[in-house]
Amino acid sequence: DGRIMEIRNTADQLQKHLARTGRRVITRFPPEPNGYLHIGHAKAMFVSFGMAAESNGDCYLRFDDTNPEAEKLEYIEHIQDIVSWMGWKPYKITYSSDYFTELHQFAVQLIKAGCAYVDHQTADEIKQYREERRPSPWRERPTDESLRIFEEMRRGMTDEGQATLRMKQDVKNENYNMFDLIAYRVKFMPHPHAGTGWCIYPSYDFTHCLVDILEDVTHSLCTLEFESRRASYYWLLEVLDCYKPVVWEYARLNVTNNVLSKRKLNRLATGGIIRGWDDPRLLTLAGLRRRGVTAAAINSFCRELGITRTDSAVHLHKLDHHIRLDLDASSPRCLAVLRPLRVVLTNLPEDHHATYDAKVFPGRGEETYSVCLTRVVYIEATDFRDHDSKDYYGLAPGKSILLKYAGAITCQDFSVSDGQVTEVRATFTPIQEGAKPPKGVLNWVGQPAAGQEPLEFEARLYSELFKSLDPSDLGDAWMEDLNPTSETVIKGAYACTQLSKAQPGDRFQLERLGYFCVDSDSSSSNMVINRTCTLRESASS
Ligand code: ATP
Ligand code: MG
Ligand code: MG
Repeated sequence: DGRIMEIRNTADQLQKHLARTGRRVITRFPPEPNGYLHIGHAKAMFVSFGMAAESNGDCYLRFDDTNPEAEKLEYIEHIQDIVSWMGWKPYKITYSSDYFTELHQFAVQLIKAGCAYVDHQTADEIKQYREERRPSPWRERPTDESLRIFEEMRRGMTDEGQATLRMKQDVKNENYNMFDLIAYRVKFMPHPHAGTGWCIYPSYDFTHCLVDILEDVTHSLCTLEFESRRASYYWLLEVLDCYKPVVWEYARLNVTNNVLSKRKLNRLATGGIIRGWDDPRLLTLAGLRRRGVTAAAINSFCRELGITRTDSAVHLHKLDHHIRLDLDASSPRCLAVLRPLRVVLTNLPEDHHATYDAKVFPGRGEETYSVCLTRVVYIEATDFRDHDSKDYYGLAPGKSILLKYAGAITCQDFSVSDGQVTEVRATFTPIQEGAKPPKGVLNWVGQPAAGQEPLEFEARLYSELFKSLDPSDLGDAWMEDLNPTSETVIKGAYACTQLSKAQPGDRFQLERLGYFCVDSDSSSSNMVINRTCTLRESASS
């Protein structure tokens, strides 16, 4: 019957198309340049670039730039940079707006075929008529009239809001997205890529499928919210007698305690609430990069997610898991303390200076760097208590701990000022063959030379940006859910001299403290280091 003929026809056309492209799979990743890309886009890229790569095909990076209002050159430049940082090589970089001339020709063809008409309803009227399933009073106007007015629209003779071009689809269809969708709007605004040549702009629904055809796309993969627009996608190709790519939808990625909508990200990034689009607390790819996350970790997270059709928020811990796996293998170790507590080793002379070999990758290889032990050293303030107790492995009066790689210290006493422990006094015992070392092993930093303070840095520690799992549940009140302690800045942290060579973007593990990355805010007088993540799920501080 008719339906079967139709399917056979379609299959025939796709076969012809495949023959023409040498049976090569062609996909596209089509971001709108209205913001920075986020981890959801990493999934979208994994799907489209990944599918092309797997089948020896090609994937376009296509800027879906039909809406000149929100689009900016800054975003276009950033997107190219971050796509390549993610490891993807676009076949070509194109713009939907490159095809404005062809799209306009298609529109004229559509009107001539009696499948589009110029409408004068307002947006509100269109909405109301759609709800009442009533056709626009302009729907049956003569083709010539539509052609004439559409040309006037193109030539700037029609005011904004006075006329649209609508596809003559199916007003009785259950699917609202088959109810005469808008193909063109009048907008007197220059375009960031196409320039000043146009004052009519095509809609997403009109553009997307036709540009797929113009680029020989074989598989058009998108997120589930477009599922109800597939009918319109195929309708347009059908009436214009084009082949039909395979259209397939997958679930949008959402991650707990954060937002991914570009509208919301824009609000946070440009509203002075955080440090910009690349704030390390955002799940933008620029934010993750600045935080110290690698593209490999993000892609392996995407691989594990798979290409599902069920929408659900993925827990942040899942991403952290992939970050840790990746950074554990690649990050050199280093000793540092975030909140230094001064320890005087009373049995060492004033000018004591000894160096020890510390392992760059403990348990894996022999590579070392040197750390120096002086009479004054620093341990983590949170590793000291004024009273010892069972199951406590830090330092306390009368108790011994191991300064990693150097030797044991035993606490004698300590000073307090304003309720704060200001100094601890201890004795040092070198590591001895055969002797049983203390159970607690601490990170520490010595002085580069006796009496000289260690390398100081600013540490920025992060936790969830939002308090609730899904801040979008709160509707307009979503900003009230921001976690006031999502960023902790610690000044006056100390690191061993090994770190003095670190450059922005360098990553390492500070032993016991987590994985860190040097921030772009660093200067020669103030090194800033972001914590990418803790070493284990439960660790905080
Ligand atoms: P927003 O609603 O935040 O503006 P968008 O879908 O309009 O997002 P685009 O720049 O148009 O953003 O997206 C480019 C591609 O990435 C599209 O194919 C889109 O489906 C996909 N994409 C966007 N967000 C996600 C997400 N959270 N998970 C998976 N894919 C996504
Ligand atoms: Mg959008
Ligand atoms: Mg979009």
